[in-house]
Amino acid sequence: MSVRVYLLFLVFQLAASVSVSQRCGFVTPEREVTALPFSGPLSDEIVIPVVVHIVWQEPEENIPDERVWSQIEALNEAFGAQHIPDWMAQSVFSPYITDTKIRFCLATRDPQGLPTTGIERRHTNSNIALGGTTELHYTSMGGLDAWDPQRYLNIWVTRFAGGITGTASFPEQGPAAEDGVEVHYAFFGKDATVPYDQGITTVHEVGHYLGLPHPWGPDAPTCNQDDGIDDTPLSELTYQGECPTWLVFSCGTPDMSMNFMYYTNDACMALFTPQQRDLMWATLNGPRSTLKDSDGCVFTPVSTDTPNEGIGVRLYPNPNDGVLSVQWDYPDQMTLEWYDLHGRCVKRLSANGTTARIHHRLPSGTYLFQLKDSQGKVIDRRLCSVVR
Ligand SMILES: [Zn+2]
Repeated sequence: MSVRVYLLFLVFQLAASVSVSQRCGFVTPEREVTALPFSGPLSDEIVIPVVVHIVWQEPEENIPDERVWSQIEALNEAFGAQHIPDWMAQSVFSPYITDTKIRFCLATRDPQGLPTTGIERRHTNSNIALGGTTELHYTSMGGLDAWDPQRYLNIWVTRFAGGITGTASFPEQGPAAEDGVEVHYAFFGKDATVPYDQGITTVHEVGHYLGLPHPWGPDAPTCNQDDGIDDTPLSELTYQGECPTWLVFSCGTPDMSMNFMYYTNDACMALFTPQQRDLMWATLNGPRSTLKDSDGCVFTPVSTDTPNEGIGVRLYPNPNDGVLSVQWDYPDQMTLEWYDLHGRCVKRLSANGTTARIHHRLPSGTYLFQLKDSQGKVIDRRLCSVVR
């Protein structure tokens, strides 16, 4: 049993005694916060490419693309100081609300340079436990391999046992192939499951991924230990399953219970502090600096090849309402791609033979459809519409 899994096992034991889901299975490594606060100039923004690996067993775990898109939106709102409850205006902590200048984009280019939706899915029939396991991170074991963690933030969405909602790798912790964030499918994205229904579980875990400890420090909450960050008050409470809209004191000072690194309900979360921002920037200029140079969100240009007009291709109905058929004249392993009008690949799949019947969840709109053969040659390119 790896150290990481063993630590999670311990947390499962603790979680078994609580009635609501445990916000986080993350256990800070037993060390002080070692990253020096970032003191250089804040450039405009750092944008981190994200790939989401959905590993599912039951159909409800195979969450739709919309939930993934809403999670990226929730990340950008939280890290951009736009996830703020109304009552925060009266809070003594409102001056601490900080735009971290860190943003997230769903990958548009995969590790091989091919267009991607940034979302991978796998139905696994194996009996592996999912969240928090080694197997989740390896295709050969029933999970899905990480994309190069130097270039992408890997997020695995799956089912957790034991009431855990998510977990994360601290910078320079654990094997590279398992580096990233794991989130319980029920708490991923907006319109998720109350009380962790607004995508803040992922915000919290990405905070760990970027180097942030819990406000109460690395061990169980106590007034004898701090998180090493000066502008988060000393605290011995987690606010697990709570939503305080008033000042709560511990260790003799008011607690910043709306800080994203507590266990507070999503609706009552509001901020990262300036020094938390500086620590995350230190991580992005230190152990995770390669993310800044990633091309994971550079659009792959739509091919300018002239379609092979000798090949008959039929796509119907057009417009469609979520179900369409595509037929082509000769059997081959084809790649079907849809691009939105910004040039972003929003759907991509492979099909064998001479026909494909596709159920999709693309929103209403106009898309550029492209069909490529097994050699990568463009066979057909046309506009297609979705009307729901
Ligand atoms: Zn945590």
